[in-house]
Amino acid sequence: MSRFAYVNGRFTRHRDAAIHIEDRGYQFADAVYEVIAIQNGSFVDEGPHLDRLDRSLGELRMAPPVARSALKRILRETVRRNRVRDGIVYLQVSRGVARRDHAFPAHRKSSLVVTARSMKPKSAALADGVVVVTTEDIRWKRCDIKTVGLLPNVLAKQRAVEAGAYESWMVTPDGDVTEGTSANAWIVTAGREVVTRPPTNAILNGITRRTVRAIAEREGYAVVERVFSLNEARAAAEAFLTSTTSHVMPVVRIDDRPVGDGRPGPLTAALQADYAAHAGMAHPDTA
Ligand code: PMP
Repeated sequence: MSRFAYVNGRFTRHRDAAIHIEDRGYQFADAVYEVIAIQNGSFVDEGPHLDRLDRSLGELRMAPPVARSALKRILRETVRRNRVRDGIVYLQVSRGVARRDHAFPAHRKSSLVVTARSMKPKSAALADGVVVVTTEDIRWKRCDIKTVGLLPNVLAKQRAVEAGAYESWMVTPDGDVTEGTSANAWIVTAGREVVTRPPTNAILNGITRRTVRAIAEREGYAVVERVFSLNEARAAAEAFLTSTTSHVMPVVRIDDRPVGDGRPGPLTAALQADYAAHAGMAHPDTA
C-alpha cells in the first residue's frame, strides 16, 4: 500500500517526500514534534498533545504553521490517506527555510510535516515486561520542550539496544533517574506509593504520564511526584514506563537486577489495564 506524507501544504508519496536542505530543522534541530496514538480510528488525548505542541512552539517563539482547526484536519487527512486504524500520527514543525544563520530568520514561515503509520500495540508482545539499562543524562536544561534535538536520547537508546534492553533510563550525576529516552519513568515503593518525577525542565511532561497519574489518583493510589534515585528504583517493588507508543509498560529488570520478583507487578498491571481502557484498546490479556 502506498504511504503519503503531508509537507508544507501538499500530500506527496512518502518515498518522494522531501524538505529543503536549508530547513532549520535539518540545520539546527530548530524544530518541535508530537506523536499521537490512533486506536480504533480515534485519536488518543489529541487535545493535550496539541496543547503541548503550542507550549513547545511558545517556548521557542516559533510561529504555529497553521491554526489548530486546520492542523486537526491535516492530521485526520494524513491518517485517512494512510489507512491507519491503530498506529501513530507524527507531526513536526520547524522554524522554516532560511539561509544558514543561527539567529531567527526575519520571516515567520514555519515548516509542517505530517506522517502516519500503522503500528501494533507493543504491550501485547511484551506482556512479560521489559528490561531497562541506565545511562548518564547528558541532555540540555530544557528537556520539557519536545524538540527534535534528540541525539543524547538516540545514543542512550542505542546502548539499550546493544545491551538487549528495551529502554535506557537516564541518570543525573547525583544518581537520580530523570526519564527514559522516549518514555517517562515510574516506580512503586514497598509502601505502595506510585512515584514519578515532577514535570520540571529536567523531563518531558508526557501526555501518557499525565493520564496515568490521573487514573492512579482516581483509583485511590498514593501518587507522589518527587525525584527518585536509581538506588531507590533498584529497591522498588515495581517499576514501569509510560509513553504514547508503549502505554504502561512493566519494567522487570534494571541493569542486571530484577525489580521485585522480576515479573510485572500487580499495581502496574492494574494501571496498564486502566490505561488500555482509556485509550480504547483491547487489553493484552483479552487481545
Ligand atoms: N520522555 C521523552 C524524552 C519522550 O521522548 C517521550 C515520548 N515522546 C516521553 C517522555 C513520553 O511522552 P508521551 O507520553 O507524551 O508520549
